[in-house]
Parts: sequence; C-alpha cells; structure tokens
Amino acid sequence: MKTIGLIGGMSWESTAEYYRIMNEAVRERLGGSHSAKIVMYSVDFEEVRKLHFEGNWVEATSLMIDAAGRVERGGADIVLICTNTMHKMAEDVVASINIPLLHIVDVTAEEIIPFGFKKLGLLGSTFTMEEGFYKGRLKEKYGLDVVVPAEAERKVVDNVIFEELCLGEIKDSSREQIKKIMERLIDNGAQGIILGCTELPLLIKQRDCPIPLFDTTAIHAEAAVDYALRD
Ligand code: GLU
Repeated sequence: MKTIGLIGGMSWESTAEYYRIMNEAVRERLGGSHSAKIVMYSVDFEEVRKLHFEGNWVEATSLMIDAAGRVERGGADIVLICTNTMHKMAEDVVASINIPLLHIVDVTAEEIIPFGFKKLGLLGSTFTMEEGFYKGRLKEKYGLDVVVPAEAERKVVDNVIFEELCLGEIKDSSREQIKKIMERLIDNGAQGIILGCTELPLLIKQRDCPIPLFDTTAIHAEAAVDYALRD
C-alpha cells in the first residue's frame, strides 16, 4: 500500500472526513484491521483565511508549497490538497514537488463523465465559483460546462461555508437555502451538481437534491485510496 499525503486543515472539519473516508475505504477493500497509510500536514486555517481576505495569493501559494514539501519529506507517495479553493495554486505546488498531486477537479470530472452530463451546477467558495482555475479546467480538459448561482446566492453559499460549516455549525435553515439555490441551478440546465467545497457534504446529502450530486470530498478521498492500493 502506498502512503497518501494530505494537506489538511482547510478546514479540519472536512479533513476529518477525508481521514474517515480513506480509512473506511481501505478497511472495506482489504478487510481485517487494515487502515490507510497517511502523512498529513494540517495548517492553521485562520492564517489561510487572512490571506483570502487580503487577496494575498503569493503568500498563500508559498504556504501550500511549504506544506506539500513537508508532506513529501514525511514519506508520502502522492499529495492531496484537501480543499477545492486552494487548487487555485495547484500548478505551483506540482512544480515544487517530486511526487504526483491528485487534482480534485480531475477525479471529479472522471466521476461525472460516465453519466454523460455536459452541464453541471457548481457550489463552492466564491473563489471556486467565480474564478477560472476550477471552471476552466472542467471545460478545457473535459468539455464540461458549468452553471453557478447568481451573485447574491453565491454570497449565501460562501457565507454558509466559512461562517458555519468551517466552524462546525450545521444549520437546517442554511440547508433549506441551499436546496432552493440548487433548484435554480436545475432550472438553468444543470444535469448534476458538484459540491465543490469539501465542507458542503457535511450539510447537503443526496436526499436534498433530485439530480445527482458529486461530493468532491468523498470522490477525492476514494480516488486516493484507489491510487494507494493500485499495483
Ligand atoms: N474547504 C473549502 C473548499 O473546498 C474551502 C476552504 C478553503 O478556502 O480552502 O473550497
């Protein structure tokens, strides 16, 4: 079994999910007392949030490169950035390490393709919903079109992520708001919806949506286990 490297803590609420999902997947696949081999570096999320607010992506990139180096030196065979948003600097991270990076957009797209969908709703941080690094990769590499909520709704989703889910708060009222936002994505042609924030699956489950949901936390974590157990 190969060793999976995690850059975690963004937030730890979702990193804990990665840890659980990967260990459960290894136990399911290998049985007995088997569990995943993992090296993790977990950041202080307050420092990352400060850089978000300042728009200081240069410093944020240095922080991710430093974290990836720590994970690599810790003995990982592959590295995962356990957040969609911080894939904004994935290319710089790839260039700084000698082990592969398992890109969250790639594994999500590979999960979507067998459905034959062409247009996907995308929920995530405002960075993920508005900037090119996520939507652009889906379009250019996989030919997938993305529909995002209107501006006011994007603010609602972002607020639920950072002011509630990342702080461990799960609110029924927020779930109802996001269900309405998903209905509008469906009205705008979404055939499936990408939960493109690793905390959103803590709040939104498949039962909350009439079309397929793509849970990036589970997809990413399970793809890492596939890699770790491949010959
Ligand atoms: N976990 C969230 C995501 O998947 C946001 C955390 C972050 O800003 O890195 O995008």
